[in-house]
Amino acid sequence: MKIAMLYICTGKYEIFWDEFYSSCEKYFYPEDSKEYFVFTDSERVIRLNSDRIHSFYQAKSGWPYDTLLRYNWFCTVQDKLKEFDFCYFVNANSVFLKTVKANVIPYPTEETPLVLSIHPRFYDDCLGETFNPERDPRSTAYVAEGTPCRSHCGAFWGGTAPAIMEMCRVLRDRTQTDLGNGIIAIWHDQSHLIKYATEVKHYNIAQGLVSYEEYMDPDKCVLMFPAKAKYGGNDFLREVDWKTKLSHLPQKAYGKTLRALKAVHMDGALRKAVHIFKK
Ligand code: UDP
Repeated sequence: MKIAMLYICTGKYEIFWDEFYSSCEKYFYPEDSKEYFVFTDSERVIRLNSDRIHSFYQAKSGWPYDTLLRYNWFCTVQDKLKEFDFCYFVNANSVFLKTVKANVIPYPTEETPLVLSIHPRFYDDCLGETFNPERDPRSTAYVAEGTPCRSHCGAFWGGTAPAIMEMCRVLRDRTQTDLGNGIIAIWHDQSHLIKYATEVKHYNIAQGLVSYEEYMDPDKCVLMFPAKAKYGGNDFLREVDWKTKLSHLPQKAYGKTLRALKAVHMDGALRKAVHIFKK
C-alpha cells in the first residue's frame, strides 16, 4: 500500500518532528510505503525535503488557525495525494509505541472509507451530551441535540485517498463559510470532524488505542500524544498571547477584568507591566 502521512508543525511544534518521524517509520504499517506531507515554517524541517518527505512552507497563523485551517492546506496537495492508497493525519506531538498493522487498525475500504479515533479523554456517550459537539446552529459544524454522534478526535484520522480528499474539500468549505460569518466552532477542526462523521460511513478506532500520555494504558496504547506540560504547556507551545489568555477566563471574571481595564485606561500600562514581567 502507498500511504501519505499529513503533518503540521508550525512555530514551536517543530520540536516534535524527529520523534514522530522515527516512531512512524518503525511502527506505523511498517511493511507499506510511506511518504510525508509536512506543513511547516521550520527551516530545519523544510531542509529535510527528499523523495519521501515533501515539505511545504506554512507560516504560523496564530491559535486556533494553526489547527483549524488544516483542511485548506491539505487541499493544496490534492493532486499529489491522488497517487496514494491511504492518507492519515496525526498531531505533531505523536509517538507510535507499538506496531500498527491491519490487525490493529484495519485498512480503510471502499465500503468504510474513513478510519476515525475516539477521543482519549471524553466519555463517548454517543449523543454528545458530555463531549461538546458544536451546538450553535449558526455554525456549519452544528450537531442538533439528540443526533447520534461520537467523540471523534482531531489528532488522528485517516482513510482512502479519495475519501480524505473529499472530506478536506467539504471541511475546508465549511470552515471558510463559518469564518465568513465570524464563527469558529467550539473545538475548531475537531468539531467539523465530529459533524462530518455523522454524515459519512467510518470505522471507529476503540478508545485507549490512541491516548494522551497522562491517561494512557501502556498495554493498550499504540499511539501516544506526549504530555505537553513537559514542553511548557498548551499556551506556550501554541504561542497564545496574553489577551487571548485573558479571554479564556470564565465569562464573569473576563467581563470584570475588561471593565476594570477600561475604567482606568490600563491597557498600555498593563502591556508595559507584562513586558517588564517577561524580561
Ligand atoms: N499546530 C501547529 N502549530 C501551532 C499550533 C498547532 O503546528 O502553533 C498543529 C500541530 O500539528 C498540533 C495540531 O495543530 O498537533 C493541534 O494543536 P494542539 O496539539 O495544540 O491541539 P490538541 O489536539 O492537543 O487539542
